[in-house]
Amino acid sequence: MKTPIQTNAIDFDSAKLQRLGLGQPSPLVARSVSLSQLRQQLSQQLQTSLEPQRILGLFFREAQRLVPLDALAYQHKPSDLRLEFGQRGHHLLSYNLSHEDEQLGELVFRRNQRFSDAEQSDLESLMSTLLFPLRNALLYRAATQSALRDPLTGTGNRIAMDQVMEREIDMARRHMQPLSLLMLDIDHFKRINDTYGHGAGDEVLKAVAESIKDQLRNVDMVFRFGGEEFLILLSNTSREAAATIGERLRYAAQLQEYFAAGVRIELTVSLGCATLLPGESIESLLRRVDSALYVAKREGRNRLEMAG
Ligand code: GH3
Ligand code: MG
Ligand code: MG
Repeated sequence: MKTPIQTNAIDFDSAKLQRLGLGQPSPLVARSVSLSQLRQQLSQQLQTSLEPQRILGLFFREAQRLVPLDALAYQHKPSDLRLEFGQRGHHLLSYNLSHEDEQLGELVFRRNQRFSDAEQSDLESLMSTLLFPLRNALLYRAATQSALRDPLTGTGNRIAMDQVMEREIDMARRHMQPLSLLMLDIDHFKRINDTYGHGAGDEVLKAVAESIKDQLRNVDMVFRFGGEEFLILLSNTSREAAATIGERLRYAAQLQEYFAAGVRIELTVSLGCATLLPGESIESLLRRVDSALYVAKREGRNRLEMAG
């Protein structure tokens, strides 16, 4: 059977017109609640949350008092968000939500019976209650995501690092997979600051972070550990594979061209590498990778040292 697809765009500015009573009137059907009552109720309820999951879950449940549905799916690509409620149905109604120039995601209603024009019009009218709650939730989500990043280098900050480390160590234990860490520190970085100023130092720091990210598949695993130190978490990576990656990072950092206040400068990095031992704590693993880095510095810098 061919699935009928009705795709629509909802610009909340025209949804606003409907709220003012300028939209299509829907024929009267005996229902437990009227469209205007439900809209008023939703407007209040949806404001109480900043979680897209809760806002749309509530909307899905309440909208059914007026229009029976089998499923609701929501997707907002810029924030990597995808939500689904209910079961799938053959017929679907799809809307691209936007407000002025902002994309607020795609909403898909599904069910096994066709949607009538009146039902479609009711859903469109109800959707206007999503505008501000959804927009606020997306802004909040963007803000909390940026709270996990270091603003200078765009790498994960310490809060992100703690969360991800815990999760990845858990996974590694459960699936009996190896997990390795690299700790990278810029060599003689203080000299750059002292010679060219702090601003130039910041630029170099950014360039080093870019060089690291360029070499890795998963940039979400790079964290700024301290001033000019980065921690790289390598899940499902053995000691040998981690050593190869570390060596590649060292070499790439050395090859990259750096400019401080317009002057080309030479720069190298040192690295420590450690692989999680059975039953080892996060603290112990971090201690071992830090000691390995210390040895790399002591042995002359621009080198990778494996933890014992
Ligand atoms: P080593 O080879 O032993 O690592 O020498 P180093 O000079 O890199 O090490 P040290 O730890 O003595 O100095 C690190 C310097 O990094 C000191 C600090 O002023 C600088 N630093 C830390 N955070 C920042 C930052 O965000 N921006 C800039 N420009 N400098 C920073
Ligand atoms: Mg240093
Ligand atoms: Mg340091």
